[in-house]
Amino acid sequence: MPLTAYDLTGRTALITGAASGIGRATALLLAEAGASVHCADLDAKGAEQTSADIRDHGGRAQPRALDVSDRAQVAAAVAESVRADGRLDIMANIAGIMHRSTVLDTSDADLDRVLAVNFKGVLYGCQEAARAMIAQGSGGSIVTMTSGAIDTGAPELLCYGAAKAAVYQLTKTLATEVGRHGIRVNAVAPGWIRTPMTDRHIGDGQEAAARTMAQCSPLGRVGEPQDIAHAVLHLASDASAFTTGQLLRPNGGVQMPW
Ligand code: NAP
Repeated sequence: MPLTAYDLTGRTALITGAASGIGRATALLLAEAGASVHCADLDAKGAEQTSADIRDHGGRAQPRALDVSDRAQVAAAVAESVRADGRLDIMANIAGIMHRSTVLDTSDADLDRVLAVNFKGVLYGCQEAARAMIAQGSGGSIVTMTSGAIDTGAPELLCYGAAKAAVYQLTKTLATEVGRHGIRVNAVAPGWIRTPMTDRHIGDGQEAAARTMAQCSPLGRVGEPQDIAHAVLHLASDASAFTTGQLLRPNGGVQMPW
């Protein structure tokens, strides 16, 4: 029997952070599941590449240059997606940045930048997508990307962890407010995933960090972007039709071992 609950044919998805890592893997997977995918990213060239790769495999995709920390740009991206396909069914808020500084060294500028992208960027995406979905009247699924970093104190990750904890609160709150419109809102909290972000921030220590993470996991390996893309697909699709306000933790069975 075909797995129709995971079939996204006829649906439109807007995915932020689609140029790289988890966002790119999610764009490719949702397109494979049949969605028309709008690939949005600050990295316009990367978004174009993801869209081209989807189209090369017979899927439907369009690139969008987008800075999620700019409310007007997020509103325009949602409006353009609706104009292009006549609808918006899935909003995956995946774009994010990492920042490391100790609590004592954290400046106002550090905090403002991380909150602008990792929290306000998600808030704008949720607000604009929910408004479009309410106007459309056929429900929808909004997915946010938080982190296993919200579960524990982690050295040098105050700004990042605070923004991600706020995203979880946003997810739970919005779910209570838009459920009556048939809109579901859920969060994903990945463990440590091998992506350009973790490459950049761990640098030369990447392989050693990967070995440590793999040893900590009952599954004996590190996470890959596709592991998180599958979690997003589950939450975006009808397979999770009775799931809202929840946090899914694809972390290989391990909390961040700080
Ligand atoms: P990534 O490979 O760096 O991808 C993030 C993408 O977001 C990049 O293309 C980046 O563009 C883009 N971006 C950054 N700021 C943006 C902005 N203001 N507007 C639009 N796009 C912007 O990172 P990733 O590891 O896939 O992370 C994806 C999400 O998962 C993030 O929210 C991250 O916090 C979360 N997460 C990751 C892990 C992990 O272990 N990798 C664990 C937990 C949660 P630029 O390259 O131009 O900056």
